[in-house]
Amino acid sequence: MPRDYYEVLGVSRDAGETEIKKAFRRLARELHPDVNQEPDAEERFKEAAEAYEVLSDAERRRTYDAYGHEGLRSGGYDPGAGAGFGSIDDIFQAFFGGGGGGFGFGGRRAAAGGDIGVEVEVELAEVAAGTRREVTYDVVDSCEHCHGNGAEPGTPISTCERCGGAGELRQVTRTPFGQMVRGTPCDVCGGAGKIPQTPCEVCGGSGRTRQSRTSAIEVPAGIEDGQRMRIAGAGHAGEPGAPAGDLYVEVRVAEDERFERDGTDLVSTVSIPATEAMLGTTVTVPTLDGEEEIEVAPGTQPGHHYVLRGVGLPRLGGRRRGNQRVILEVVVPTNLDGEQRELVERLDGTLEEDNLAPRQGEGLFGRVRRAFG
Ligand SMILES: [Zn+2]
Ligand SMILES: [Zn+2]
Repeated sequence: MPRDYYEVLGVSRDAGETEIKKAFRRLARELHPDVNQEPDAEERFKEAAEAYEVLSDAERRRTYDAYGHEGLRSGGYDPGAGAGFGSIDDIFQAFFGGGGGGFGFGGRRAAAGGDIGVEVEVELAEVAAGTRREVTYDVVDSCEHCHGNGAEPGTPISTCERCGGAGELRQVTRTPFGQMVRGTPCDVCGGAGKIPQTPCEVCGGSGRTRQSRTSAIEVPAGIEDGQRMRIAGAGHAGEPGAPAGDLYVEVRVAEDERFERDGTDLVSTVSIPATEAMLGTTVTVPTLDGEEEIEVAPGTQPGHHYVLRGVGLPRLGGRRRGNQRVILEVVVPTNLDGEQRELVERLDGTLEEDNLAPRQGEGLFGRVRRAFG
């Protein structure tokens, strides 16, 4: 004997239409076999659907209220046969609408192709302007021997008798929510509509083979290490009628020990001896565009920043480049011999407060120069 329908839906005997609908909706979501792994979920789902089918129909509900399950049966309604229900997916589709609400049902829909991941490495200099890389990877693609139709070339291909070549079977189902027409891929031809008489020797009739493919990848300027690019449709081929997967390209930017990256700026260091910092000098520093000279003024302090404009990196996909900041490192000479030590001692003896004020200029230059002269 079936359970009491009100009990199944968990509503009172005087529940309104909306309450009954709500209760079923909640149960259906809870019990759908795609989300509920309990072994009796499908049975309970069908039970809830049956209860809803009866209680949502005013006439059936009156009969049930007055005469119970027996009354329904003698009145010609036969829920036990489940004839009206079609599959769980039908009920869901009718109740919750097309797409399926993220339950992933729809069973035998042709499968989309899988995604592929590849990695490319670029130099920092290439990040400045953007670059291009060829990548080679294995991909499941349309068979070249049979051009994807699965038949050995020169052999006949017959139209699928089951679906008449449409590749799809149309089913009309009566559900508690009305008649539904539903298309499912043909189970004989797998949705292709055609059946090869002699299967292709290379792919065995599937129309797809694993092959090596080389693609040119445009790497945009400004890309960061670890960023991924998605090339839609460049992944594995899907089943007939379904889209191909995507190709994901992960970009590695090779370490360049000369530069640190700071957003669109590059940071580098240059070292000079303390004496040159005192006297002033010219240093050559590397940039992504080649070497550049920097004038170090006499008396420049350690840690001084120079800014080389426009030789940094652009933002992703941009053109205007950031700057390069060059940090001056001053090396204090060590292991002085006797003569060197004497020279520094002489210098040390002449230094005055004015020499030790942290500023630059001719005055300081002149005095330091004299001390060394
Ligand atoms: Zn083939
Ligand atoms: Zn077919």
